[in-house]
Amino acid sequence: MSRTGRSIDVDGARVYAIPMSTRFRGITVREGMLVEGPNGWGEFCPFPEYDDAEAAGWLATAVEQCTVGWPAPVRDRIPVNCTVPVVAPERAHAIVTASGCGTAKVKVADHQDSLAEDVARLEAVRDALGPSGAVRVDANGVWDVDSAVSWIKRLDVAAGGLEYVEQPCRTIEELAAVRRKVDVRIAADESIRRADDPLRVAVAGAADIAVIKCTPLGGVRRSLQVAEAAGLPCVVSSALETSVGLAAQVALAAALPTLEFACGLGTLSLLDGDVVPAGEALRPADGYLPVPRTPPVPDPDLLDRFEQRDARRADWWRARLGRVA
Ligand SMILES: [Mg+2]
Repeated sequence: MSRTGRSIDVDGARVYAIPMSTRFRGITVREGMLVEGPNGWGEFCPFPEYDDAEAAGWLATAVEQCTVGWPAPVRDRIPVNCTVPVVAPERAHAIVTASGCGTAKVKVADHQDSLAEDVARLEAVRDALGPSGAVRVDANGVWDVDSAVSWIKRLDVAAGGLEYVEQPCRTIEELAAVRRKVDVRIAADESIRRADDPLRVAVAGAADIAVIKCTPLGGVRRSLQVAEAAGLPCVVSSALETSVGLAAQVALAAALPTLEFACGLGTLSLLDGDVVPAGEALRPADGYLPVPRTPPVPDPDLLDRFEQRDARRADWWRARLGRVA
């Protein structure tokens, strides 16, 4: 066994399969593994299409959690955004109001002619939040530079001021070009997947904000180094973990020296189940996730309930863990 995985119980790892409450990233069932070490449990949940080299970062996060734990937090709660999918304005208004969040992340540019719908959705979100709320949009890289510039200007007006635009275009060069032409802040998300990406984004002048996920980056300590090297304000965002893995993301958000923006960590509701008891689940209340004093511990009954029953899939995960560890 390699250095990374030597202190975890590979044979005792549990494979889970939890239905998604909302189809997301094209998946309807979230799969992953929970592994135990001397410091408790960690979560290994790289998406199925990732190769072993990429999955190694995800395992490093799990190993950090279940062997040494995390640096001390500097705050006791994390502001989170609510997420508004492609819905009608009345529904958008209701989602924001029900969330209690002061920040809303709104999906836009779902299809080519969506501008009028996006404008109506953003107006409804602003109405629900009031003037002190923050509205951000995520375009998932669909625009070219010219489209991004014209759409951002119109969406900024509709939203009564945008906090930032996440990944307006696909490449770092395009992000940099858009950033020179608009006043709204640009956040890089898809451009940041590997540990050296944030630095490339910063050097290229491509973004004002880095969206980081500690789960693929290789752990809380590694992510803190990455954030410091990038020198950009960070928004910590989920990789669709259960409460066990989400706790690592919360630990990162809690340990960052400064946290200027709400994080994208209110994602547990996308899963139709969890592996920890409801009282320990990392669900936001009134727009904040409390930083737990101790990491959440899987409940044996829930591990049984969400055990991957498809033997072929379970074997695939065990083989993958064996290779990466
Ligand atoms: Mg995004």
